[in-house]
Amino acid sequence: MNEQESRPSGSNLRETNSKQGRLFIISAPSGGGKTTLSKALVDRFNDILYSVSYTTRPPRKGERDGVDYYFIQKKDFEKRIESGHWAEWAEVHGNYYGTSSGFLDKGLASGRDILLDIDVQGTLQILENYPDSVTIFIMPPSLETLRKRLEMRRTESRGTIKRRLLTAEKEMAQKGLYRYVIVNDQLSVSIEKLIAIIEKYHYKEKMIS
Ligand code: ADP
Ligand code: 5GP
Repeated sequence: MNEQESRPSGSNLRETNSKQGRLFIISAPSGGGKTTLSKALVDRFNDILYSVSYTTRPPRKGERDGVDYYFIQKKDFEKRIESGHWAEWAEVHGNYYGTSSGFLDKGLASGRDILLDIDVQGTLQILENYPDSVTIFIMPPSLETLRKRLEMRRTESRGTIKRRLLTAEKEMAQKGLYRYVIVNDQLSVSIEKLIAIIEKYHYKEKMIS
């Protein structure tokens, strides 16, 4: 686990007070383990809200609308860009992904901490407006392990895996933007490290308020 000091400064900052919730952001290259780790966190901290992202990519087998993602059409997504619906949005692997700003602001105002599973582009946008966010980057032990995990997950075609591995290299080069970096080698160890980070902020604030 690695604490980084650097954080982009922001404009248009959301006001914070001791009763307001905090954002936790988890990023990783595709296949890095953020879905698995986010689920473990939501199970462990049942008072933390999970921000369900919107996407224009088609659902994978087993994914449920409104649970894993809100699956929407490209036209709808673009309309919501114009109407200022997104706290952040990005094009990732040829599809749009976005986070509802209404959901974040309502949750934070009611004092809830919120977990976001978003990419590096989205993290930079969120930090502009929510600079207190706790950012965590999940690294695979190696690119080869990442490829194997993507293959074993059996949700992507060969071409898609190739594309995701190319993006992975670029994303991993930006891990220094994050406050914490966890190498996701042994799953149980990664979960423990992640829980330790969240506990440091989540309970401290509960005690103050
Ligand atoms: P992401 O959401 O970042 O795309 P996933 O959570 O879907 O990644 O993980 C990709 C695959 O790797 C899944 O099949 C998952 O079960 C597996 N996986 C995740 N973490 C580990 C780990 N530490 N060791 C072995 N397999 C893992
Ligand atoms: P996947 O298609 O594998 O579920 O996700 C692909 C990538 O999109 C991952 O890096 C994931 O973190 C990112 N992602 C998921 N939701 C969002 C979102 O709301 N905003 C942004 N910027 N990225 C997202």
